[in-house]
Amino acid sequence: MKKILADRTGLIDASGIRKVFALAATMKNPVDFSIGQPDFDVPEIVKKEAIKAIEQGFNRYSQTAGTDELIQKVSGVVSTEFGWKQPKVFITSGVSGGLLLAFLSLINPGDEVIIPDPYFVIYKHVVNMVGGKCVFVDCYPDFGLDADKIKRAITARTKLIIINSPCNPTGAVYNTDQIKAVAKVADKHGIVILSDEIYNKFSYDGDCPSIAKYYDKTLLLRGFGKTYGVTGWRLGYAAAGEQLDELIEQMIKIQQYTFVCAPSPFQKAAAAAMDCDMTAIVKAYKNKRDLIYDGLKDKFELAKPGGAFYAFVKAPGESGSEFVKKAIANNVLVIPGNVFSEKDTHFRISYATKDETIKRGVEILRKLA
Ligand code: PMP
Repeated sequence: MKKILADRTGLIDASGIRKVFALAATMKNPVDFSIGQPDFDVPEIVKKEAIKAIEQGFNRYSQTAGTDELIQKVSGVVSTEFGWKQPKVFITSGVSGGLLLAFLSLINPGDEVIIPDPYFVIYKHVVNMVGGKCVFVDCYPDFGLDADKIKRAITARTKLIIINSPCNPTGAVYNTDQIKAVAKVADKHGIVILSDEIYNKFSYDGDCPSIAKYYDKTLLLRGFGKTYGVTGWRLGYAAAGEQLDELIEQMIKIQQYTFVCAPSPFQKAAAAAMDCDMTAIVKAYKNKRDLIYDGLKDKFELAKPGGAFYAFVKAPGESGSEFVKKAIANNVLVIPGNVFSEKDTHFRISYATKDETIKRGVEILRKLA
């Protein structure tokens, strides 16, 4: 039969998370630590704004870059936070949309992208899909950010460094010294840093420092999905200071021919969401982090997660995948670490679930340690 598919389809693998998620559907009342989406309900006012926008006929395309209202609001936030005088901002279809546009705008075939390992799955597969080469920097066992390791990974072909703090899958929050050191290394070579800060509100032991504050060639990507419990609304934003004007322009140009715009009624609701106080939710999530960490730390090797809603735990004895099979046989769904890493030594827990479920899961996992 004639080969109908493009070669690039062979460069990517179906998400290992989705495979476990599909398996969950076949299990009876599992402890589901698999998928990373918040379990809390959307703030009432945000729901109402979305419904109102739809009823009032705000259902057509917005401008490619997004509604003025939301762009202004986001610009206000990033100007205050980073001192950017004229920030360039546009609204993306989720952070995933921003990532694709960034990679399409920055990476030529053969260009190298430095990615701290463990990493969020999309980076590897989409960088490969656009013809880039991933250069992984091993961050085991504490999952901190080491500027010297990043420095050693730089070559003449390095085009981009990706930073994700708080990190999926490790929950690591990089401290100011670590990010300043990486900013210095990047600056020496004029390399763009993509800072994926989708979990920036979920930082439990103080604010999560952003590299955008210390480095003017930072492309900042943030989202609404995790913060307000609206992952299905597909909303995020890309922002940068004047140094990356042209990059943002090019990303908007590609958005024109791909996503066209982010979902318009939800842009209205997102503007309202930005005024919501999510402190109580973050506090509840900090408690979930404590339940997991305190529940597992004496039985498993585990770096204390500072943010997001993940713990990346060393599998006892065998490989991460072998342990995951054992956990699933005991009705606990976790994701093997090799989905997020070049190594197969760990497993990821997403604790974005009810406290009772966390306690039940901890009890079972302790028996498997
Ligand atoms: N970046 C990271 C680190 C993530 O964990 C996720 C979602 N799991 C995304 C980006 C994609 O987010 P969105 O749903 O906004 O596309």
